[in-house]
Amino acid sequence: MKKILLIATGGTIASQHSADGLTPKISSEELLSYVPKAREFCTIDAIQVLNIDSTNIQPEYWLTIVKAIKDNYADYDGFVVSHGTDTMAYTAAALSYLIQNSPKPIVLTGAQKPIDLDVTDARTNLYDSLLYACQPNAHGVCLVFDGDVIAGTRARKVRSKSFNAFESINFPSLATIHDGRVIQYIQNNTVSAYPAFYETLHPSVFLLKLIPGISPDVLSSIAEQYDAIIIESYGVGGIPSDSHRDFLAEIDRLVSKGKIIVMTTQVMHEGSDMKVYAVGNVAKERYGLIEAFDMTTEALVTKLMWIMGQTNNPQTIKSMFYTTINYDIMFQG
Ligand code: ASP
Repeated sequence: MKKILLIATGGTIASQHSADGLTPKISSEELLSYVPKAREFCTIDAIQVLNIDSTNIQPEYWLTIVKAIKDNYADYDGFVVSHGTDTMAYTAAALSYLIQNSPKPIVLTGAQKPIDLDVTDARTNLYDSLLYACQPNAHGVCLVFDGDVIAGTRARKVRSKSFNAFESINFPSLATIHDGRVIQYIQNNTVSAYPAFYETLHPSVFLLKLIPGISPDVLSSIAEQYDAIIIESYGVGGIPSDSHRDFLAEIDRLVSKGKIIVMTTQVMHEGSDMKVYAVGNVAKERYGLIEAFDMTTEALVTKLMWIMGQTNNPQTIKSMFYTTINYDIMFQG
């Protein structure tokens, strides 16, 4: 029988009512008591590394989760991390960069309803995650939710209330799970004997969403505090250069000061392609901007944090950025 470690961090799955509203209270051991049938196919131990609403997740906590997995890596065949859904896509992406090419599965899951309610998705999601963590073809970091198995860099929370809360963005699901049966669609052939663990992040990353009328002055204030600025632009990507509010001069100034500027799109599906329009092409070519193409914003943010934790050389940052990790960037223009 496979040996799985449940690492609990809180979230709705573990929440109960308090005078102020739902808050995580249910322990990792108690979570397991709601999925007794999972013990028919695996042995499970449980630890609790956090007990937070995932609104409070911090980059430091991602390192806490990584440490728990690293410390226990030799003793288990797979890991299930229970987590709040609100920031689970960020954590799944962060873990994809901090633990690369893992031959053992690291499965994140959570729920839209607490596990102790009569009507809940929590028991199915936890059971499915344990089941998936026992599959011979399961490797690396992924997220299991509502029967869908999503690569850790491709998940996005797309519904705030319904059980089908997550989607795989710009990439197919790795597998599907129905009534206790797993159908694996995508095989990961890049696993090594032992994963590469990383223990440093540089969280100095800002995400700026453009709206018509936004002032380019905002960039210099952001750059006072942050080393990398992601500009979430429109459509396939462009930088406003209208005489009312011209961003190009400000971008020029920041790039020459060594700031990292990355372009992405506000559109959820299909990604950016800045070469298409002059408003994108000119800015990208003139200032050597990095482009996210088909990456999710969650992966983009955490990849930059991971890369900048390893280097501050702009050329190395660029080449690490365009190296595909856990399926995070498949289209590069
Ligand atoms: N606020 C909760 C959290 O992210 C929501 C959930 O888990 O579904 O921790």
